[in-house]
Amino acid sequence: MDKYEVLKHYYGYDTFREGQEMLIDSILDGQDTLGIMPTGAGKSICYQVPALVMNGITLVISPLISLMKDQVGALNQAGVHAAYLNSSLSYNQYCLALNYARQGRYQIIYVAPERLTTEEFLTFAKEANIAMISVDEAHCVSQWGQDFRPSYLKIVEFIDQLAVRPVVSAFTATATKEVQEDIVQILKLRKPRLLITGFDRNNLSYQVAKPADKYAYVSQYVKNNPDKSGIIYCLTRKSVEEVSNRLQREGVAVTRYHAGLSDDERRQNQDDFIYDTKPVMVATNAFGMGIDKSNVSYVIHYNMPKNIESYYQEAGRAGRDGEPAECILLYSGQDVIMNQFLIDQNRENEALDFEALEVVRKRDRERLKKMIYYCMTTDCLREYVLQYFGEQGEPYCGNCSNCLVEFEKMDITKATTAILTCVQECRERYGITIILDTVHGSKNAKLKQYRMDQNTQFGILEDYTIAKLRQIMDYLLHHGYLELSVSQYPVVQLGELAEDYLENGGMLLMKVPLEQEKKTPKVTKKKAHSEKAIDDTLFEQLREMRTKIAKEEKVPPYLVFADKTLVNMCSVLPKTKDSMLTVSGVGEVKYERYGERFLEIIKAYVG
Ligand code: ADP
Ligand code: ZN
Repeated sequence: MDKYEVLKHYYGYDTFREGQEMLIDSILDGQDTLGIMPTGAGKSICYQVPALVMNGITLVISPLISLMKDQVGALNQAGVHAAYLNSSLSYNQYCLALNYARQGRYQIIYVAPERLTTEEFLTFAKEANIAMISVDEAHCVSQWGQDFRPSYLKIVEFIDQLAVRPVVSAFTATATKEVQEDIVQILKLRKPRLLITGFDRNNLSYQVAKPADKYAYVSQYVKNNPDKSGIIYCLTRKSVEEVSNRLQREGVAVTRYHAGLSDDERRQNQDDFIYDTKPVMVATNAFGMGIDKSNVSYVIHYNMPKNIESYYQEAGRAGRDGEPAECILLYSGQDVIMNQFLIDQNRENEALDFEALEVVRKRDRERLKKMIYYCMTTDCLREYVLQYFGEQGEPYCGNCSNCLVEFEKMDITKATTAILTCVQECRERYGITIILDTVHGSKNAKLKQYRMDQNTQFGILEDYTIAKLRQIMDYLLHHGYLELSVSQYPVVQLGELAEDYLENGGMLLMKVPLEQEKKTPKVTKKKAHSEKAIDDTLFEQLREMRTKIAKEEKVPPYLVFADKTLVNMCSVLPKTKDSMLTVSGVGEVKYERYGERFLEIIKAYVG
């Protein structure tokens, strides 16, 4: 089979997505290949398709048991012979799987990195016909990355021991330059072809909200979206407990996940979520890596995370099926304090001496700053994130809270002059609160102590509310007029535009949301699906069938058919095998297994 036939036969798709084909061709040309694609872009197909075209076995190295299980489950559903070798197997199961592998039963084998250099595995690998080694989550080799795994260093050791070096491909969603270079160097990729696909996920909408009552916001949102599956991320275990308990008391089918739960409970809760028994998950960031659930319709961050990388990764777990999905970040000033505290307390890496630790902290504070700006900016949120990853976006995406909210322009010339002058006069020694209290003319004992009540700008902006002044401060910080020093107690300094502004002046306008936007959180009750209005009754019937089959097969419903595939069935309304096979996501094998049962429902329905 060629690559198109493989795509159609096993996956039921007609076309490759952006970037997939280039990566596949590169691998099939025998070139080492590094693919960097955002979560949900479809990395798996990039190594699975060539694996099924080539002669020989493909070893996929993957860091997480759950990830392997899910991938192998999906492949088996599609009729591909695949297996995994990791510590979840008993010794007997492991030997049996290796035996099958020796007999050439599997085209794709997922292996945990620490298995690679064990004697049994090496003996097998040296004799086997290995066509490709594919490293999933390749950023785990890099100490710069967030998920460094020492066992990933064994990969090269392993490859070096093979008689013939197979083609090596590597994939990750982490794009920073250091990590990229590390991957190439540490995995010893040979003249790798590198492909970075666009980081944009255009089916995701981004929102930042600053509700007075976060819980009320979440509770309302969840109730407005009763049939949907979503993740609510909290910064601490304690808030996971609180939020999940309250939702549960309100009758929501919710579960929770954090590092403080027993292994058993975590496994159970994860399954409840994946199988849609409890479609709402409240979790810390310990949850998610290796979760491929494709029908997650929203990801709400109850607290601001520590950096844009984490945010994009976590938010990116929404909408993997390509359906419209919402990513909402609930911001409060408390989140900043909490994150700063976590950075200062960070003892994660015992090996670092004081100086190195300071470098790491400085970097973390710098990243946190960018995350805070994300919550502050009045410009397009998508554009902001894309720029962060070094990509040029459009200044208007039309699908984020900033693009969708109406703004008015406020003249901040006077306020800017006062604030910049105040900062200059006190020789850039104080933090945001002191500066703002000074221009506001607050009766704060500290001001006297620092002699800020003597500053020429004291009380000049007394007509402004502190909240408004904060907004202006954020604007100036974000637009280069001011800067925050990167230290434990950040102080306000003049930015690159300050000198020119103080000298030459100039009118400055700041975008502020129109006041009426202040009312209750705008929770949109969207139609469930992007395709033209589909028939809910039929969709429900198909969904019931899917649940039934999933139970029989003991796999998550989305491995039987994705929501998107069911939606597509509702609009194609196939009555024959051939027309069923035109539905996106219905491949030959799945048709043979389940196709008839769905066809019958559709035929009965259409009459
Ligand atoms: P990643 O590993 O990059 O996060 P996955 O490989 O899990 O993403 O793919 C995400 C989803 O996109 C899966 O449901 C997959 O079936 C789907 N997908 C991938 N490639 C295609 C394609 N060419 N056409 C349609 N759907 C695709
Ligand atoms: Zn936008």
